[in-house]
Amino acid sequence: MKKQKVVLITGAGIGIGAAIALEFAKKGYFLVLNYNTSEKEANQLKDELINQYGIQAITCKADISVESEVQAMVEKAIQTFGHIDVLVNNAGISIDTLYEEKTVENFRKTLDVNLIGTFLVSKYVGDIMYDAKQGAIINIASTNGIDQYFPMCLDYDASKAGMISLTHNLALQYAPYIRVNAIAPGWVATENEIKELDQDYITSEQDKIFLKRFGRPEEIAKVVTFLASEDASFINNAVIRVDGGQR
Ligand code: NAD
Repeated sequence: MKKQKVVLITGAGIGIGAAIALEFAKKGYFLVLNYNTSEKEANQLKDELINQYGIQAITCKADISVESEVQAMVEKAIQTFGHIDVLVNNAGISIDTLYEEKTVENFRKTLDVNLIGTFLVSKYVGDIMYDAKQGAIINIASTNGIDQYFPMCLDYDASKAGMISLTHNLALQYAPYIRVNAIAPGWVATENEIKELDQDYITSEQDKIFLKRFGRPEEIAKVVTFLASEDASFINNAVIRVDGGQR
C-alpha cells in the first residue's frame, strides 16, 4: 500500500501557517501542526481539517528555538506517522521598533526563532528524510531578506536573509535526496501583520505593489503545496518571490 504523505508545518495555528495546513489537508496529506503559543487555534484547526477532509492530524507544542523541544516534536511526529515527507518552516516573529529603540535582546530573539529555529527543525527532520532518501523542505523567508528594507525591522530582515542563505546550504547538504526551496512573500494580509498598521500606511505600501493589493495567505500556501509536489520535481535551491510585483 502507498504510504500516506506527511507534512510538518511550524507555526501552523494561525496566519499563513494555517492556510498552508488547509491546502495540504485538501490534498490528503497527514498533518503535524506545530504551535508555540496558539494552542487553541491549532487544536481547532486540527479538528476542522480532520472532520472536513478525513485526514489524520496531530498538534505538537514546541518553541522552535529550543533544541530539546524540537527534538521531542520530531520524535512525536515519527512515533505517530513513521515518516515525514515535507517540512514547512513557517514559524517566525518580527519585533518592530524604531531604529533608536532596537535592542540586542530583541535582535537575538528574532534570530533565535527565525534563523536558528529554522536550522534546528530542518536538521532534525532533514536527517530523517535523508536516511529515507526523499523529502522536500520549504522555508518561508521574505522579500525583506532580499531587497525590501525596513529599518523598523532590520533584525527581522537580517534573519530572513539568513534563512535564504540557510536554504542554499541545506539544499547542498541534503542533495541529492531532499529538495530545499524558499518562498519570499511580500506583504500578506494576515491578522498579526496588519493589525497595527494605519490605513494611510497600508495604502502607501499597496501603491508600491504592481497588483495594488496585499497577498492572501492562500496565495502563499498554494505555492508551498506546489513546491512539495512531484510537479516541482526539478525545482531545488530556488527562492521564489510571491509578492505581486514590488519595487
Ligand atoms: P503570524 O504571526 O500570523 O504567525 C506566525 C506563527 O509562528 C504563529 O503561529 C506563531 O505562534 C508561530 N511562532 C512564533 N514563534 C514561534 C516559536 N518560537 N516556535 C513555534 N512557533 C512560533 O505570521 P504570518 O503573517 O502568518 O507569517 C508566517 C511566516 O511568513 C513568518 O515566517 C513570516 O515572517 C513570513 N512572512 C509573512 C509576511 C506577511 O506579510 N504576513 C510576509 C513575508 C513573510
